[in-house]
Amino acid sequence: MTGSREKEKTYSGFEQGPIRPPSEARSLLIRITRNCPWNRCAFCPVYKGEKFSLRPKDHVIQDIDAVSRHVSALRRMGNSQGQISQEDLNAYAAARDVSDRPAFYAAMNWFACGMESVFLLDANSLIIKPADLVDILRHLKTCFPWVSRITSYARSHTVARISDDDLSAIARSGLNRIHIGLESGADEVLAFVKKGADKKTQITAGQKVKKAGMELSEYVMPGLGGKKWSRIHALETADALNQIDPDFIRIRTLAIPGSVRLYDDIAAGCFEKLTDVETAEELLLFLENLDGIASQIKSDHILNLFEEVDGKLPEGKDRMTGVIREFLSMPPRQRMLYQVGRRVGLFSRLKDVHDPALLKRAEAVCREYGITPENVDDMITELMKRFI
Ligand code: SF4
Repeated sequence: MTGSREKEKTYSGFEQGPIRPPSEARSLLIRITRNCPWNRCAFCPVYKGEKFSLRPKDHVIQDIDAVSRHVSALRRMGNSQGQISQEDLNAYAAARDVSDRPAFYAAMNWFACGMESVFLLDANSLIIKPADLVDILRHLKTCFPWVSRITSYARSHTVARISDDDLSAIARSGLNRIHIGLESGADEVLAFVKKGADKKTQITAGQKVKKAGMELSEYVMPGLGGKKWSRIHALETADALNQIDPDFIRIRTLAIPGSVRLYDDIAAGCFEKLTDVETAEELLLFLENLDGIASQIKSDHILNLFEEVDGKLPEGKDRMTGVIREFLSMPPRQRMLYQVGRRVGLFSRLKDVHDPALLKRAEAVCREYGITPENVDDMITELMKRFI
């Protein structure tokens, strides 16, 4: 964070960051900070080589004001059903200064999506002074009083250090959901991947978010312990989540692009990646050990082998574990076809392997690329790199 708090005086226009959770696809994105203040996780390619910085509060306020101006203009342009002609939109866009267009496009997309939610970028908005965050949230609520959800990513290490009073003030000002990358509850795994937070800190942070009255979404990463720590990763992650009881548990299976440290670790022989079958076994163990919580499990990423492992605990547990058991009991060739069909976007459910038309296409992909039950995991690794 060296130099990150240096005063940046000149406003250089509306900004957006590189990523947001899939569930925030319809949200207005407001950038509070740039990049990640930690940036050391061994599996994460997102901010590599990018320097963290805080955006001055008044620059964030100017971004919000710009969107607010455009939203007001869009509302005036709309007919009684809120529809705007393409001609009017083109004329309005053409009349904007080039520097004002990013805010306009953000406003237009948000307007088209119903303007219900806002997501604060980038990786850890809660690192700014709580009083500044409260001011930004209040300004958002003043400009867009109809918004029902304001959300942010946050690191456990940061949240654990914020006082309960400050977290409550942040929640009262409108931040009502936080996404935390738990990844694992196992200290061995967290230390190995340099997550910068141990199990105790992760639990403290999660419990504090819940206590402040905000919704909590925790990301877990099947496969992150590799072969060495697969079992303890599953058990300790389940145990941490059992103590937190988050509203959402989001599954994001490990994928390893060439730009991250784990890639070099594999080459150096100090990390062994799980096969899909081993990852499924680990996921099954993890789910079986979730106990006494009412979280919603979400599998909303193409990196995940099972889109169907998605449901509410505790009532959905048997159905979700049943999906994995069924996969594990498939003959190797059928399992391979499911793996490939899922990763090329043909299948979304296990039963899709029984659809003759889809199956034919999956078989064609296997033939074209020479995929067999023996080499399927290597081929899948290559396919998954496209989605990271
Ligand atoms: S804290 Fe999040 S954004 Fe930062 S390096 Fe780790 S995973 Fe990536």
